[in-house]
This record gives sequence, structure tokens and C-alpha cells, in this order.
Amino acid sequence: MTPPESPVIPPANRMPAMHPTLHSTPRSSMPSTTRYSEVGRRIDAMVRTANVPVVRASSVLFESLAEVDQALQDTARGVRHATTYGTGGVPTTMALMDAVAELEGWGAAPALDRKGPGTRAALVPSGLAAIALAVLAFAASGDHVLMPDSIYGPGRALAQGQLARAGIETTFYDPRIDPAGLAQLMRPRTRIVYLESPGSYTFEIQDVAGLAAIAREHGALSMIDNAWGSPLHFHPFEHGVDVSIVPLTKYWGGHADVLMGAVVVTDELWPTLWRAVRGLGLCVSSDDAWLVLRGLRTLPQRVAQHEVSAIAVAQWLQRHDGVVRVLHPALPDHPDHALWRRDFSGSCGLFSVELERGLESRVAALVEGRRHFGIGYSWGGFESLIMPARLQGLRTMKPWDGGPLVRLHVGLESVADLLEDLEQGFQAMGIAPR
Ligand SMILES: *Cc1c(COP(=O)(O)O)cnc(C)c1O
Repeated sequence: MTPPESPVIPPANRMPAMHPTLHSTPRSSMPSTTRYSEVGRRIDAMVRTANVPVVRASSVLFESLAEVDQALQDTARGVRHATTYGTGGVPTTMALMDAVAELEGWGAAPALDRKGPGTRAALVPSGLAAIALAVLAFAASGDHVLMPDSIYGPGRALAQGQLARAGIETTFYDPRIDPAGLAQLMRPRTRIVYLESPGSYTFEIQDVAGLAAIAREHGALSMIDNAWGSPLHFHPFEHGVDVSIVPLTKYWGGHADVLMGAVVVTDELWPTLWRAVRGLGLCVSSDDAWLVLRGLRTLPQRVAQHEVSAIAVAQWLQRHDGVVRVLHPALPDHPDHALWRRDFSGSCGLFSVELERGLESRVAALVEGRRHFGIGYSWGGFESLIMPARLQGLRTMKPWDGGPLVRLHVGLESVADLLEDLEQGFQAMGIAPR
């Protein structure tokens, strides 16, 4: 047997001997800095795996300067899968961009069974960043934005803070406004009509198609936060919406272990959106993109279970002492139930419950010390969460005047365990079992 060939190291690349005791090490096996850079970068085996691998990259390499120039042009134009650098995308993030574009809209043009423009998705580090990107990409100083009074709280803070500082003025409108009412609020510089259906904590359903049509008539863009509908139960582009904002943190990721957001637009708006993404230096890590890709494989099954379990818990709460009403659009007594039936094909695990006035000081007893419901923000993971609404300052157009409001995210635990847990909460509030 011949011994393994010893590597040939050019003398100039040899590491200098660091210490006299190292002299016993044979020189030929001394590590060189070049070897540290070059080992393990070539794999000859082509391995096909079910999943796109995690590709971590800052630098992207080229064969020639002509290839660099081509890539620069393609990336500037927002050509699909073009990249010059990790911020422009790597295979893992490109795979997720395609997946979100296809599930939320219909994917890149020309899709097999579809003519006309495609939809494209940009990825950003959180759902809130997706809201910020969507507005900043399409509005400028002097522009006016209409936002529903029921907007996700940090979205309101964005409008009142960074957007105001950038000279973008926001008016908050009644989420139950009808299209004629919205038309009254449109100004010559109204650039964006922002929608969120159902509204955060209070679950108002909006007439999305009617409001989007008014926006279009007035030369404004309509955008919607589609966290609750998920790609399963609400399809923004079918209702004439121009921009869909997708908190991937919620059901897409689905496991409470990743933060990400996406902005989805049609081809027509893509160059403007992509310029903003590139200009703001927004990008996501491949590890996180991989987690969202993994999560979305089971999105339909998870949401189906969240939906069934949440309705069971909601109906139980409807019959419970101390409860005024349950704010869940899929319940027939919800004021916007008809609109929800018209526009949505299903629901999910998130809804609120309004308790009787006078129970304000006892809400803590309901939510604290639960075995299965954690006290925490966000939702859309596998686990149940409970959180009192803090709407002070979050409803400027029409302050909340009901009893204490508590939001529940019903997770994948057994419904019997969840009901027992809530029953103990009611007992802790001093409300007898039924
Ligand atoms: C959670 C949430 C967001 C923000 O998503 P993050 O990834 O947590 O920033 C935006 N909109 C709605 C309706 C949400 O519930």
C-alpha cells in the first residue's frame, strides 16, 4: 500500500513556526493559511435532497467580469433569481420568495396555466418590517395614507413615528367604513389605502374588494395585512388588492421560532418594491428562510386544526358566565359574519373574548397561572397564548367602549385540556363553573 500523498505546500505559504516546541511537528503537515481558506470547498457528489439546502453567503462568485456586469444589470432590474451578493438572495431565500409569491398570489410569470403578470415576493426580517417596507416603497414625503383604526399596534406606531417624520401623513379610519365613506376621505395626495381584515384584537371584517376599488379609482394603491387569512383562507389579489403584507412569523413559520415578513406584489409594482428592498439593505438569513420553508409544508394541516379547536373554544366561551360576546368572524352572531362568509374560505386559531364590565381588575386572575395558555405576544405557532388587549391609545377614531377584552390563540393542544385550563381561570376570577 502506498501511503497517502502528503500535500505539497509552497514555501511562501507555510505558517511560520510559532514556538520552539512546535519544531517536533513535521514541516510538511504544517497548516498554511491558504489551506485554511481552500479546504473543503469542493464537493464532487451531487446529492439530491427533498429540501433546498441552507446556503449561507455574503459573497457570490463569478467566472468573469462580463458575468458580473450581467448579474449587476439583472439584479438592478429585479430579474427573478438574479443576485450579485448575499443581500440580493441565495438559493434558500430565492426558494422561499418563490413559495410565498405562489401561495399568496400565483407566482412568477409566465405560470403554466396563466397568462399576464406574475406575483413576486420580497423577504424582510419581520412582519412589522414588511408593513414599513410596503409603505416606504410606495409613499414619499407629502403623501397621505389611510389606515384602519384597528391596525396592528406597532403599525400604528410606525405611522405616528417614522412615517410622520418622513413627511407621510396618516389618517385612521373606521374599519367598518363603506366604499362611499372611504371615497370621502381620499385626498389628491392619498397614495395608500391600507387594510387589515379582520382588525387586530377587535376582528372587524372589511369590504376589501369595495375599498380596493375606491383606492384604484382615485389612483391610490391598496395594501392588506393578510396575517389572519393566511394563504389558505384569503387571497388578496383576487379582491383587487395591489400589495399583500405577510407576517411569515405567524402560521407560515408556525412554530414560534422564527421572525420574518414578506411583501407580495404583481410584476408591475415589483421594480419599485425591489428598489426599496435593495436601497434599505433589507434581507433575511437562509437559516430563517429554511425554517419558514419547513413550517409551510404543514400549514394547511395546522391551520385546519387551529380552526376547528378555536371554534370549539369560542362556542364554549359564548355559553360561559362572565362573557359578553366572542369576537370571532366565523361565529354567526359576529356583526361582519356575512362579509366574512363572502370573502374568506375559513378561519384560524385567533379571536377575542369580551368580558363583562366590572371584571377589569380580575382579568389577571383569568390569564395568569394557566397550565396550557402562555401569556405572550404574537400567535400562529403550535401553542396556545392568551393576552389582555391594551387598546388605550390604539383606537383614536373610535375608542373601545366595551368590557375587558382578552385575545386567545388556540394552539394544537387538546381542546379538553384547554377548556379545563380556562375553566380554572374563570374560577380564579370568582366566576362559578356552569
Ligand atoms: C404579528 C403581526 C404582525 C407583525 O409580525 P412580526 O413578524 O411579529 O413583526 C403584523 N400584522 C399582524 C396582524 C400581526 O398579527
